[in-house]
Amino acid sequence: MGSYNILVAEMECPRCQRLAECEVEFKLGRLDLRTYRLGEALEWAGGNGRKPLRRPDGGNARTEGYADCPQCGRDFWVTIHVQDDRLAVVVPDPARPGYI
Ligand SMILES: [Zn+2]
Repeated sequence: MGSYNILVAEMECPRCQRLAECEVEFKLGRLDLRTYRLGEALEWAGGNGRKPLRRPDGGNARTEGYADCPQCGRDFWVTIHVQDDRLAVVVPDPARPGYI
């Protein structure tokens, strides 16, 4: 049993401004180290995640994610939007500094 899930998505890295397929760690829904891609339905079942523990009304939620850029090796934060139970949009947050 893991403590987070992974979202693989292509996005522009806010650290190097290059387009990269990044792995984003996030904590929403059932946390079992599952790898999702954009457009896939999030599995809500569980109870070991952060709020909301259960499916929110309409299946809409927003959560933070932590990403590594394979191009420059640096990290950054993103906001993940879940719409109609699906991982719909991932938006890098350049205002929030990474650790690396
Ligand atoms: Zn980068």
